[in-house]
Amino acid sequence: MDLALPGDDHPARAQFRAWLADNADPTPRQLAAAGYVAPHWPRPWGLDADPIAQLVIDDEMRRAGVRRPFNQIGIGWAGPTLVHAGTDAQKERYLLPLLAGEEIWCQLFSEPGAGSDLAALGTRAVRDGDEWVVSGQKVWTSFAHIATLGILLARTDPDVEKHRGISYFVCPMDAPGVTIRPIIDMTGDHAFNEVFLDEVRLSGDNLVGEVNGGWALAKVTLGNERVSLSGEGALWGQGPTAGDLLDVVRRAGGVGDAGLRQELARVWIEGEVLRLIRLRTVSAVVSGRAPGPEASVRKALADDHGQRVMELAKALTGTFGLLAEAGPAQGLAHAGGGGPHGTEPSADAGPGWPESVWAKGYLFSRALTIGGGTAEVQRNIIAERVLGLPHDIDVEGARPWAQSRVPQS
Ligand SMILES: Cc1cc2nc3c(=O)[nH]c(=O)nc-3n(C[C@H](O)[C@H](O)[C@H](O)COP(=O)(O)OP(=O)(O)OC[C@H]3O[C@@H](n4cnc5c(N)ncnc54)[C@H](O)[C@@H]3O)c2cc1C
Repeated sequence: MDLALPGDDHPARAQFRAWLADNADPTPRQLAAAGYVAPHWPRPWGLDADPIAQLVIDDEMRRAGVRRPFNQIGIGWAGPTLVHAGTDAQKERYLLPLLAGEEIWCQLFSEPGAGSDLAALGTRAVRDGDEWVVSGQKVWTSFAHIATLGILLARTDPDVEKHRGISYFVCPMDAPGVTIRPIIDMTGDHAFNEVFLDEVRLSGDNLVGEVNGGWALAKVTLGNERVSLSGEGALWGQGPTAGDLLDVVRRAGGVGDAGLRQELARVWIEGEVLRLIRLRTVSAVVSGRAPGPEASVRKALADDHGQRVMELAKALTGTFGLLAEAGPAQGLAHAGGGGPHGTEPSADAGPGWPESVWAKGYLFSRALTIGGGTAEVQRNIIAERVLGLPHDIDVEGARPWAQSRVPQS
């Protein structure tokens, strides 16, 4: 397996460099129109890029300091579903502003009684002439308070088997009857919301795909959960890595405690194993093979790994960990380093990351084993799909949901 990225002779590098020369400091709209926001999407929205070309473009963009617009749910999940099942008019209306980050999207799927068992959702959409009248409650809706639009699952036929009576809609978040209530999470951030839908009227044009065909589209959405081919951060591909933590310790002159040193070696090795599993998945796709069970295994390993990296950072912070903004560099500087390197300790958090990223990451890392399919549900999938163990007796609703939530690489 070749683990190095293709060099200067890869055509995607030359094309991107030439485009950037003509479009210095590109706006989000220019990036979107050129297909560089989601290069793996089909033209004209993307560039039909294969995984290697996508990695090469990511690499070029990183070197040039060009950032994609923020619209995680729009670009990652809603967009691919619209590409798959939207009408031409829906694609024309929604995709370019979505790619340019001009319209932020949210995902109105989970409900108080429907998370892992998403197909149990109770929000109703009732037809009234050419319109649909939607009532119900959603929860854990990330970014609802800044979103222009949401992808919405609602029950359109309560009298059939639960997977067969769900439809998929686009919901304007400023429609009359939509109430958004903030949920402050344990990091202190407002990212989640409760969303109440009280007789919200949606036009027939807001239906995506067939009436009662929403479950199949929900699986497309969740299967497209952002495949972060470039991200290696410990928090769902974002944030610092185990290697970054090792760098912090090195710069601080090492760590005297043998147990913490051992744990540091462990998380670094785990990080490397995860990196190789990721490259193996990419390599399999490039060779025309479907990603194997390593994709499911990687999600389960990566979530636990992220929590361990952040727990170790907290342990290294020592008593400074009581302070919201403190990180391991402060704890190590106070402890005087004392590692094998004998260098002068410094409280440098390392390039790119503010010291507070570790404290916030520690709190956020509890979410890793809940969102995107819980740890228990992931293990059910691995048990059944990889190890061939007997089916869980009560996962009829949970299984397809959770399966589709496993990132594809
Ligand atoms: C950071 C974050 C962002 C999120 N953003 C969104 C969003 O934007 N939109 C949205 O719709 N949702 C969002 N969610 C919600 C998320 O999808 C759900 O939390 C998740 O699917 C789990 O559902 P639940 O919370 O209802 O837990 P439940 O499904 O009620 O699970 C409770 C417990 O029971 C266990 N369990 C459930 N079923 C089984 C089973 N069959 N076998 C064994 N154990 C089982 C679970 O593992 C868990 O421990 C987000 C969650 C997080 C953490």
